[in-house]
Amino acid sequence: MKTTMIAAFLPGDSTVEMRTVPVPAPRHGEVLLRIKASTICGSDIRCIYHEHLGKGPEGYQGVIAGHEPCGQIVEVGPGCRRFSTGDRVIVYHISGCGVCNDCRRGYMISCTSEKYRRAYGWQRDGGMAEYMIAEEKDLVALPNELSYADGAQVACGFGTVYEGLEKIGIDGNHAVLVTGLGPVGLATAALCRKLGAEKIIGIDVIPERMKIARELGLCDVVLASGPDNVAEVKKLTGGQGVERAVDCSAHHAARATAIRATRKWGRIVFIGEGGTVEINPSPDMIHDQKTVYGSWVTSIWLMEELVERLVRWNLHPAEIITHRFPLERASDAYALMASGKCGKVAVCADEELG
Ligand SMILES: [Zn+2]
Ligand SMILES: [Zn+2]
Repeated sequence: MKTTMIAAFLPGDSTVEMRTVPVPAPRHGEVLLRIKASTICGSDIRCIYHEHLGKGPEGYQGVIAGHEPCGQIVEVGPGCRRFSTGDRVIVYHISGCGVCNDCRRGYMISCTSEKYRRAYGWQRDGGMAEYMIAEEKDLVALPNELSYADGAQVACGFGTVYEGLEKIGIDGNHAVLVTGLGPVGLATAALCRKLGAEKIIGIDVIPERMKIARELGLCDVVLASGPDNVAEVKKLTGGQGVERAVDCSAHHAARATAIRATRKWGRIVFIGEGGTVEINPSPDMIHDQKTVYGSWVTSIWLMEELVERLVRWNLHPAEIITHRFPLERASDAYALMASGKCGKVAVCADEELG
């Protein structure tokens, strides 16, 4: 076993700093993971990479980056109850206090303990390293049918999307609009398809992303973002609009489009973070009996359910990973993700790099 490892830190000036640090030892209730896949999130770019903007739960405290880790347990600390050395696991990326109401619901994302709520890659060391310490209670078992790269995608993006889609309910009756076709939007389209949606319409501005959505067959129609989007979506849906819309863009115009292109009695969920939106409540929502939901990450039990469903559906989230880099090239990985000219970007090791 090595005693030192390399790890990526984000100083906040659009660079990545690689440092050599000691390999940590698991304490009570903790495991040591060999990281196999660690994907980069839009929130890493938005709140950390360019500039340290976040506060509270989004405050980056100079730790090892990466909150979408997946790996194999190589050492188990005392007091662990379920997992053993050799187990393949996904890390739910926020470690909560375990005893507040939100933690008891499984939503450690919303843990109310200022002292004990610490997210991996934000307030405690994350997955952009050769090894990582995780608490056993934050682990989800990764089935053999799924790769580590699939698992990393569940850790944040696919889990977050699944939660939002469960809130609005998606089935075979629905045409769905997805605004924003970054990794979260692509995950939305992939999951909507498996949930039975018959027509999936995507909107984005970046040609590379539109191309990925088309080539992977995730969207039936991909529209370039523009002032005619509401009319275009209505035209594609018999003049009525979609039954369900999911905003993954956080862009004010796209959010308004998501609401206005949804038909009467429809449901909209906002997943994309940051930004604003301006709507006219009476014509846009009240008179058409529409509901807008907000959805933030997911619960650990729903993540376990999603993993089971992915196997049943033969859906591999890693399909939307367009670029893989070794840890030594983490800097190139973040720069590419920041450019947006890609699907999901992953930092990988061992069998996941091949
Ligand atoms: Zn994330
Ligand atoms: Zn808590």
